[in-house]
Amino acid sequence: MADRRITAVQIETREREEMIDVTATVRDIVSEGGGDGTVVVFVPHTSAGVTINENADPAVQRDLLLWFRRLVPPTNEFAHAEGNSDAHVKATLVGSSVTVPFVGGVLRLGTWQGIYFCEFDGPRRRTFDVMIQG
Ligand code: ZN
Repeated sequence: MADRRITAVQIETREREEMIDVTATVRDIVSEGGGDGTVVVFVPHTSAGVTINENADPAVQRDLLLWFRRLVPPTNEFAHAEGNSDAHVKATLVGSSVTVPFVGGVLRLGTWQGIYFCEFDGPRRRTFDVMIQG
């Protein structure tokens, strides 16, 4: 029988647009269970997402957010009355889940890779699921 565990993680975002490094949280959950398998990080929101990118230079996250804003500026051309369609588009661009393999309870991320919760319509209280399949 395959082992399956889901951990719901709560976070509070502080900015309207922000990338929060959640790698350590995912790493701790995976190392607790040990073994080999894959971990899925899933964001159950429509104006936030998750992605993997460089965690060495914080300027990379600033550049990504800058270019998301340039790609999808807030504009009155959107039909959605809530006024946050730019956030919905950005959330779809990054996606709502990432999958990372692990061996011996250790994530197989590359040296410069980190897992980022991407807020596009904060600040808000948010959650994401860490689901282990091993
Ligand atoms: Zn909306």
